[in-house]
Order: sequence, then C-alpha cells, then structure tokens
Amino acid sequence: MASNLVPITVAHGDGIGPEIMAASLHIMQEAGARLAIETIEIGEKVYLRGINAGIEPSAWESLRRTKVFFKAPITTPQGGGFKSLNVTTRKTLGLYANVRPCVSYAPYIETKHPNMDVVIVRENEEDLYAGIEHRQTDEVYQCLKLISRPGSEKIIRYAFEYARRNNRKKVTCFSKDNIMKFTDGLFHKVFDEIGAEYPEFEKEHWIVDIGAAKLADTPEAFDVVVMPNLYGDILSDVAAQIAGSVGLAGSANIGTGAAMFEAIHGSAPRRAGQNLANPSGLLHGGILMLVHIGQPEIAERVHNAWLRTIEDGIHTYDIYKEGVSKQKVGTKEFAEAVVARLGQKPEHLKAASYAKDTPEHKHHVNGTAKRANKQLVGVDVFFQWNERNPVEFGKKLESFNGDGIKLTSLSNRGVKVYPGGFEETFCTDHWRAGFMSQQENGPVTHEQIVKLLDRLAKAGLDFIKIENLYTFDGQKGYVASQGE
Ligand code: NAD
Repeated sequence: MASNLVPITVAHGDGIGPEIMAASLHIMQEAGARLAIETIEIGEKVYLRGINAGIEPSAWESLRRTKVFFKAPITTPQGGGFKSLNVTTRKTLGLYANVRPCVSYAPYIETKHPNMDVVIVRENEEDLYAGIEHRQTDEVYQCLKLISRPGSEKIIRYAFEYARRNNRKKVTCFSKDNIMKFTDGLFHKVFDEIGAEYPEFEKEHWIVDIGAAKLADTPEAFDVVVMPNLYGDILSDVAAQIAGSVGLAGSANIGTGAAMFEAIHGSAPRRAGQNLANPSGLLHGGILMLVHIGQPEIAERVHNAWLRTIEDGIHTYDIYKEGVSKQKVGTKEFAEAVVARLGQKPEHLKAASYAKDTPEHKHHVNGTAKRANKQLVGVDVFFQWNERNPVEFGKKLESFNGDGIKLTSLSNRGVKVYPGGFEETFCTDHWRAGFMSQQENGPVTHEQIVKLLDRLAKAGLDFIKIENLYTFDGQKGYVASQGE
C-alpha cells in the first residue's frame, strides 16, 4: 500500500556509486523494504556545472521533504573551490552523530582481529571542525576547539541509546581531558553524568592516546566507543581498516530532524563500470537506514542474508581469497546471491537482530544548563610582539597597570615567561598577558577592560584578541598558563 512507503532521497553518486546503489536497492526491495524513492543528482557533474557545493537547490527540497538521505559515494573534482558535500550536508541538516559499526567476519574475510565488533559513535558538529581559524601573527595560527554541554549530551545520550537498542554491554568514552581540562573535561564529565542514567552498561573512560593504541591492538576489548569529532574522525577509519575491510563498512549520520546513510569508502573511479565493486559498504549503510525508518525486520532480513552470502564464500574481488572464498563474483551476481538467501541466517557468524529505533529518547537533551553566577575577574590580552625578550615585554606591559587592573602573568604558547620565567623557554611572536583586579580575587568591569585596551592601542601595541576571564559560581572558567 502506497501509504506504507517511507519517502527517502537517493543519490547514485559517481564512479562505482551507480552500480553499488542499484545492487543495494535491489536487495533491500527484494527483502520487502517499503520505500518511496526520490532521486537527486549530486557530485562530479553538479560540481562541474559550476555549483561549488556539489548539490542543486532542488535536491535540498527533496532532502527537507524526506529527511532521509541514502547516498552513494561521489568524486570531488581535483582543484580548488569545491566544497565537501559531506561537510555541507552534515552541517545543513544538523547531523550530530556519526555511527560506524566495524565488524570482522573471520574466518570468511581475512583479518588480524577475528573477534572485533566495535561501534564508533563520533560527535559530528563541534570540536575543531567548526572551521573557526585565524592567522593571528606572522608566526602563529589558531583553530578554535569548541565543545558544548548540549552537544556533548546529545552525542553521549545517543551512544547509550544505541547501545541499549542493540543489546550492547559496554560504552567507552575517549577524551584527552588530562590536557584539555575544560573542553575534553566537559565531554568526560557529561559521559559520567549521563552514564549514571544507564546502570545496565559497563562504562569506562580512556585517555585517547592509549585508548587508540588499545583499540588498534585489542579491538575485541571494546564495544560502543563515543568520542569528540577529531578523535572520532581518525579512529573510525582506523577501526574500519583493522576490521579487515574498508570496503565493507557503512555509516549513519544522524540529526534531530534528518539522517544520511552511506558507505565509508569513496567512488573508486578505477573500478567503475566494470561490475567489479563490492556493494557491501553501501548495503550496510542501507541496513542502518532501514532500522532508522522503522523497518528493523527488513534490516535483519537483509543483514542475515548478507552474512550467509559471506559465509558461503561468494565474494567480490576485493575480499576474494584463494582457499577461503568459493566463488569470485561481480556486483550484480553478489546482489543476486544475497537476494537468493533472503530468509536465511548465517550458520556460524553471529546473526543480526535489530530493535525498533526510539527517536523520542535519542534526541533528548537535558534542559538549558542552570545559569551560574558568572563574574568577570580579568582579561587575557593576546599580542603580536616581535622581540623575543619576555622580561622587556613584561615590564613594558606593567607600565599599563592602573585603574584597578594589573598585569599578573605573561605567557608564550601557554608557558609562563614573566615574571619568573626561564631563559630556555622558546618564545614566538604570540603572547598572552593576563590582567586581573589589583585587589586579590576582586571583580573587574568591561569598562576597565575597554580602558586598558584604549591605553594599549594609544601606545601602538598590537593586541590581536582578548579573552575575558570569568568565574562561574566561584570556580575559575579559565586555565592558568603552565608554570603559573
Ligand atoms: P576509495 O575509497 O574510492 O578507494 C580506495 C581503494 O579501495 C581503491 O583501491 C578502490 O578500488 C577500493 N575500493 C573502494 N571501494 C570499493 C568497493 N566498494 N569495492 C571494491 N573496491 C573498493 O578512495 P580514493 O581512491 O581515495 O577516492 C576516490 C574518490 O572518492 C575521490 O574523488 C574522493 O574524493 C572520493 N571519496 C568520496 C567519499 C564519499 O562520497 N563519501 C568518501 C571518500 C572518498
């Protein structure tokens, strides 16, 4: 019945995209997926028509209507000026969660990690990916790392809800909060807070460096792993690669109002049009989509038939191995082999089982954070100063003390160099000068800061930015320089 059909937007992409999309849709439809497909064009042809985002305005209309995007890989033309379609889609549709299951299929597909079954849940909107970058001095460039409480709550809650729906046992958080005490510290804290609402799971936190080493060495020790954007970007590729098969993994990008599903690999132009490509990565994206649109029973049917096909040794060239595989097949034949096994389950590999998605839980964000008593207590003024003599610069800055405000420390790349610095510390042309109240722990006003900046400007000092220093309910909202 037409009313049963769920509208989705499909893009066939470039390179091997059209072949693997046709194969994936064929399998899903034969399995009984109830889809009303709207097709859009994205990628190379659109870029080359002069549309820098690689997607036409009419395609956005379809995406806004269906809110579900099943996307084949595209080719981004070489040369400047073309914007990443993935980043644009993610930002425009607010897709905050990237979910990537990385599973090994030993002994049917070669891998060093036969018992790996890890899901990486990556925060997708914040961290260093806001693209807020500045060149501040001749020598120093800056990229702002932003981590928010609502952003962290959304992704961490999503990870726990995912774990619950998929009968997972453990949720691990990776962060670097020993160094980035505020940003990664918040992510870790929110993980502990939200984790307390999910008593049924084992929970653990790893510092990302040793966590990454452990993940690469012993992935079977992990289950669901949630992390901020940059670590997730890197480690989701590591995890997919060590599962033995970048060509097999799919991923979901989930937002409050929309979602996008795809393979993790690219358009493999050299393999295009030869009926060679493995459609499994995109099919796995499709399986995640079927769960998302409320057809978990179809997702299960497709996934189990696929597992059985892999077990039966029917493999595309990229995973074919003499002695393990039984038959080397092309894209179409592989799809037919999966279709022929619909209704069957794997005999040795773990069968797939999916529960219904629960959107009412997964997007829940705790109400607006309680507003703290926020008190302005000082200002960090950043300068370009080309001499490398901290004592001279520190003394010069002290001459601007007055009007209730004074220099308390001067640092360079986060290390205190005045007063009481070390001669050995290397200094760039980028300096941070902390000015606080002349009264111990006293408040300062915006007006005092403006007047300080006015004095500095009149003296011709090149201040490149300021950061106000606040306390929140008496707690410092800034990190002192090393050595302070
Ligand atoms: P790629 O993933 O396309 O290919 C890497 C290697 O894996 C190649 O040897 C390729 O033949 C093989 N491969 C990939 N998918 C396969 C499959 N399904 N079956 C069999 N073999 C497969 O990466 P690349 O060569 O670095 O990039 C090619 C193009 O894809 C570039 O234009 C890049 O911008 C684009 N790309 C797109 C996406 C996307 O749309 N999501 C992601 C990554 C790369």
